[in-house]
Amino acid sequence: MTTMRVAQLPGAKRQFEIVERPIPQPAPGTVRIKVDACGICHSDSLVKEGLWPGIQYPRVPGHEAAGSIDAVGAGVTGWTPGQRVGVGWHGGYCGRCDSCRRGDLFACATGQVTGISFDGGYGEYMIAPVSAVARFPADLSPVDSAPLLCAGITTFNALRNSGARPGDVVAVLGLGGLGHLAVQYAAKSGFKTVAIARGKDKEPLARQLGASTYIDSLSQDPAAGLQKLGGANVILSTVTVGDAMSAVQGGLAINGTLMVIGAAESMQISPLVLLMGRRSVKGWYSGTSIDSQDTLSFSARAGVRSMNEIFPLERVNEAYDRMMSGKARFRVVLTMK
Ligand SMILES: [Zn+2]
Ligand SMILES: [Zn+2]
Repeated sequence: MTTMRVAQLPGAKRQFEIVERPIPQPAPGTVRIKVDACGICHSDSLVKEGLWPGIQYPRVPGHEAAGSIDAVGAGVTGWTPGQRVGVGWHGGYCGRCDSCRRGDLFACATGQVTGISFDGGYGEYMIAPVSAVARFPADLSPVDSAPLLCAGITTFNALRNSGARPGDVVAVLGLGGLGHLAVQYAAKSGFKTVAIARGKDKEPLARQLGASTYIDSLSQDPAAGLQKLGGANVILSTVTVGDAMSAVQGGLAINGTLMVIGAAESMQISPLVLLMGRRSVKGWYSGTSIDSQDTLSFSARAGVRSMNEIFPLERVNEAYDRMMSGKARFRVVLTMK
């Protein structure tokens, strides 16, 4: 076989089209991956709507790609065909720029984004720089792994870098694609886990995922609810609504941190809340390939799973619309077979 099917966007604000392309050869320093499954992330709308500065079309999106190495380019060592791997948002680093030399690989000056700077996982094969590739454990299926490569790493890596210690009160704001994973990671990490969402109906799910307390923000003030527990050492905000983020700040404990991973346009924070309790607001970048690898192995070991709706590649337009509708429970995954 010399050709492959991919779902490409011919330009901004266009529908996906399934096209046949020659299977590409891996350049030096890259690997070719046979993709089994790829998650659809809300950030793929940056490609669909042409919102990423300088993006080139046609483009194949997809930064939650899981599969196996199929061929390696010249100079690649330590990676062999057949290894099960995934690629997330972070599309690799150079190892030579100032950020890389400081250990801040995520901020590499020549850093690329998978599915934006180069073609991603909405297709049967893709090429990725070897620095973007994460191994995944044998007991995790490609469909299970795919959403963990963006939604999973984003929540897991933010939590493990939040400063929270086992036993601390950690609140997760929002119970969607990110939130339903964050609650599981928080509970499995030994935090006293609080889920905050809108409506009584989400309580059973929150508890099933491991939350020991549920706060319905429609019927009670979430900040007051958290203060009743002594305040939250960490609040992980997974929502994209600035007002909802602002509403929880009063629930932070002394020295508490509001970790922001949802890309809201703006939010209001009271300087008094910050300085009177030495509280802070912090953002966290999802992570690099080794963070993906850690996310995948923790998930396999601790039994953290994404709840997914699965579509074959041919139904990519329907699958994308389903994700954008906000009605998917909870992540949408494309499969190539
Ligand atoms: Zn994403
Ligand atoms: Zn660099």
